[in-house]
Amino acid sequence: MELFELLAVRSVAEAVKAQAKSATAQNGADVRFIAGGTNLIDYMKLNVERPKQLVDINGLALDRIEKIDGGGLKIGALARNAEVANDPAVKEQFAVLSQAILAGASAQLRNMATTAGNLLQKTRCVYYRDTAAGCNKREPGSGCSALGGYNRMLAILGTSEHCIATNPSDQNVALTALEATIHIEGTRGPRAVPIEQFYVLPGTTPDRETVLEPGDLITHVTLPGLPPGARSVYLKLRDRASYEFALASAAIVMKQGSGGRIEHIRVAMGGVGTKPWRSLEAEKSLQGKLATPANFRVAAEAALQGAKAQSQNGFKIELAKRCLVHAMAQASQTA
Ligand code: SF4
Repeated sequence: MELFELLAVRSVAEAVKAQAKSATAQNGADVRFIAGGTNLIDYMKLNVERPKQLVDINGLALDRIEKIDGGGLKIGALARNAEVANDPAVKEQFAVLSQAILAGASAQLRNMATTAGNLLQKTRCVYYRDTAAGCNKREPGSGCSALGGYNRMLAILGTSEHCIATNPSDQNVALTALEATIHIEGTRGPRAVPIEQFYVLPGTTPDRETVLEPGDLITHVTLPGLPPGARSVYLKLRDRASYEFALASAAIVMKQGSGGRIEHIRVAMGGVGTKPWRSLEAEKSLQGKLATPANFRVAAEAALQGAKAQSQNGFKIELAKRCLVHAMAQASQTA
């Protein structure tokens, strides 16, 4: 780990001003916000992250979880993962989010990790963590060691010839199914970005993962209210039952009408995409249909239609389909 300065800030404006200095640094990474530190400190110890200054934002009043109009929820950027997962309103109305958070990391990590930190969680690609290996995400232009290397855990959707790393978060998959909006304070004032537009595909610039600019501070996340009677489920498949990242996961929000037909459906996948992966194809396939295993399978096929296997992860295509079918069955009233 290299030496760095620590600056504790007391206002959002002060934080934005301090981090905006990154505009002059390569990759905008010279000054970084620090909150829970469960991801950033790991990577600093590995010399993957080498900020010159950390801006401590723990003193900002951004940790509230509040109900908002229309049955929605506002979650502060600094709300700890454990607090969100155990919040009564989250458990009752947005069960998929509680389930997703509790499926990730460990109790100790969830006590420290924050909502915004989780949104920005870095990939677990082994080459990203290894400064001796070529990695376009860590060092643009150095190549991708995972192509033809160890890629069993990596993505099958949204990949490019420059990067095939998965977004590792469970929280972000649930937030995608819940159609969350990310609220940001920047040098040009506040703005709100739907989560689907927040993450960018790797393309030729895998070092850029989100639309955040230097100085941008995530202040909170909002969730719109769900239709009355909607049910939501998170299902995670992994190599071991705890403290492990997803090989495939599914977040489903579903509401059935009185005749059993699906009136509202949202589908997102984790462990398979270079970003939390929403499947509009699966949603379109299920809209207005009966909640049956056969229809779930058709939707799962649609969701994985564009999947591209790497040398070691072809099994994920069928695994993700089965994960979706099981999660859809759990979310349906018949499960
Ligand atoms: Fe780096 Fe992405 Fe390739 Fe992994 S998959 S080595 S993160 S460029």
